[in-house]
Amino acid sequence: MTLSERYHRNILMFGAEGQKKLRNTSVLVAGAGGLGSAIIQPLALLGVKSIASVDDEGLDETNRNRLIGARATDPIGMSKVLIADRNIKEINPDVDSIPLPYSIISEAAFEAVKAVDWVFGCFDGDGPRAILNELCAAYKKPYIDLASDVPEQTGYGGRVCVSLGNDGCLDCLGELDHDAVRRYFETADNLAQQNAIYGIDKMALEEKGPSVAPLNGVIASLAAMEFMVAVTGLRAPASLLRYRGHMSMVTVGRDLPRPDCHRCKGIWGKGSAAGIERYLEIPHLRRVKAS
Ligand SMILES: [Zn+2]
Repeated sequence: MTLSERYHRNILMFGAEGQKKLRNTSVLVAGAGGLGSAIIQPLALLGVKSIASVDDEGLDETNRNRLIGARATDPIGMSKVLIADRNIKEINPDVDSIPLPYSIISEAAFEAVKAVDWVFGCFDGDGPRAILNELCAAYKKPYIDLASDVPEQTGYGGRVCVSLGNDGCLDCLGELDHDAVRRYFETADNLAQQNAIYGIDKMALEEKGPSVAPLNGVIASLAAMEFMVAVTGLRAPASLLRYRGHMSMVTVGRDLPRPDCHRCKGIWGKGSAAGIERYLEIPHLRRVKAS
């Protein structure tokens, strides 16, 4: 493989071998919203082999404060993955772009996950995170999950979780809200009943919280860094990085993963025998929001 001058400054950082590894690496980005569009940009600039972007949503007016690559002239309703596709091609025509205008909980997206080398999750909710975490485990795909988080009163920030093998993931590092995952699996009718009994909190209503470009950019850049060092061999990636924006601080998680993790120890490498495809049979799971 001959490398163009475009990658000269990359090669000074991690060598021609590192660049070749990136050029041979296919990735999938699930969720092409604020976080997804922000991670697609450095991935295209790094010069990966291909980027599959997965999102079934269209642009709305409130996305314009943070969607990287969206233009003021883009019409409301324009597919977010077509915006991603245009952005990838305009940044780096070396990179194959595969826009997939589907929910991550779809046959097309599941097949795409199985076909790539690395997977990025850029969701608003923990339900699709939990499913993608399991899918990546069953098919041994390195999975980087991005989250920006703006809880009321407790500050603002986010985190990046890198699951490279079968020793630490979103679940066993304590990064999944199991109540939120449980609610995701409920039908709309059951949720309405529970809300009537137990009351409704803001998260349950799926109200849109704050989301700003600089915060998404920090989280996406942290994720792109861990991906870059892992693929090129500069160093081992951190499994958990937490950004506390209100304190101007990034910390590295030191907690050990739970030893009995269903994902890491139960279904790892089992492929179709892990049964993750059963989620495709549950139609109401296809409601997914990108961050
Ligand atoms: Zn785990």
